[in-house]
Amino acid sequence: MTDRVDIAIVGGGMVGAALAVALAPLGLRIALIESQAPPASNPSWDERCIALNAASQRIVEGLGLWGDLSADAEPISSTHISERGRFGVARFSAAEADLPALGYNVPLRAIGAAFAASMAQVDGLQLLTPARLEHLQIGDDEAVLGLDLQGEARELRARLVVAADGARSTVRERLGIGADSRDYRQSAIVTAVRPKRAHNGVAYERFLPTGPIALLPKPDDEHGHACSLVWTLPSELAREKLALSDADFIAQAQDAFGERLGTFLALGRRNAHPLERVLSERLSAPRVLLVGNAAQSLHPVAAQGFNLGLRDVATLAEVLAGAGDPGAPALLADYEMRRQRDRARVSDFTDGLVRLFSNAVPGLRGLRHWGLLALDLAPPLRQAVLQQNLGYGSAAPRLARRPA
Ligand SMILES: Cc1cc2nc3c(=O)[nH]c(=O)nc-3n(C[C@H](O)[C@H](O)[C@H](O)COP(=O)(O)OP(=O)(O)OC[C@H]3O[C@@H](n4cnc5c(N)ncnc54)[C@H](O)[C@@H]3O)c2cc1C
Repeated sequence: MTDRVDIAIVGGGMVGAALAVALAPLGLRIALIESQAPPASNPSWDERCIALNAASQRIVEGLGLWGDLSADAEPISSTHISERGRFGVARFSAAEADLPALGYNVPLRAIGAAFAASMAQVDGLQLLTPARLEHLQIGDDEAVLGLDLQGEARELRARLVVAADGARSTVRERLGIGADSRDYRQSAIVTAVRPKRAHNGVAYERFLPTGPIALLPKPDDEHGHACSLVWTLPSELAREKLALSDADFIAQAQDAFGERLGTFLALGRRNAHPLERVLSERLSAPRVLLVGNAAQSLHPVAAQGFNLGLRDVATLAEVLAGAGDPGAPALLADYEMRRQRDRARVSDFTDGLVRLFSNAVPGLRGLRHWGLLALDLAPPLRQAVLQQNLGYGSAAPRLARRPA
């Protein structure tokens, strides 16, 4: 069987799903190909919370999804960044950015449900799932995708293929597009904790010699206060912590984080994510574009990966609006040009943070101390870092812009 579409999106994780929703108003024929049956087994839809920055909140609002998400989203009113055993603390607040919140901490499950409901309403969208991309051939006017759709071979023709198939992108691999990979040999343990004291909307990140521990605010519920916890550790140590009893894990997490939010009273389910950086050498090839983790997969220390992926999506929707052939070379070049700067700045910033804080060399300790103090005290540096973390560091796509 052969089908023809304008755009084939390979990968229906968070970024592929966001793209399918963002392209809905363009009236194109779109196929979304996802190898996992939705939603529980999809790697994107796990127990994590995602810190959406201010620009991403605007994008989600522009996609018409904020109404569904806002009830589950906890506003982040300020951040508090510190290093164990040091006085230097960097604080940022929504008030200084003149915004109601620096961002929002939202359960992935809620984001997944909102995207799924929205995709179900999109005319002209074919959801092919569970379906795997197996082969890819590129011609002058279209690409031919060989799929395994529930055990049956199927062929699909598309004028544009968008790779949203994650850090180990099959599209990238089939086309021989290289990627610069760095295994950090660290894993992030993700869970939830109930601290005794209210978080008051503060997102905490505390750097330790073994890696950062972050507590982000979640909505209170009938059982009390709640925070999501992301604890980055060398992978071997993370394995040991995963094997601890809940009581021992809570005690060790408390020791790592300190007493700022009082005693940790309860713990959620623990998951671990191995951490690597993968940067695709290119963002385009004839008839193909890369978005999200397929283009750049980052360490979560600065909570930027999905935020960057959403700006890929918003930019692509902008570039495709009113276009004739969605795979035309000029259009692909335009997308690649518009995304280069943002992606380079955010991935360099994130990687720089990981290196700076994961090194116990005495000189670097001093630099970290002065770096945190400078961040707290020097207005130009504060503004640069703040704008970047809000998602406004580079020319933002229209969907993400702040109202004038
Ligand atoms: C611990 C942790 C915390 C994080 N916290 C934040 C945060 O607070 N804020 C933030 O912005 N980001 C955060 N991130 C990053 C964020 O999770 C990722 O950037 C985001 O999930 C990337 O989504 P994606 O859709 O590009 O890729 P993926 O989630 O990897 O999705 C790729 C999809 O493609 C499918 N697929 C793969 N190959 C094929 C194929 N051959 N055929 C069909 N389908 C295929 C897969 O099944 C998958 O569903 C965090 C990451 C981690 C690990």
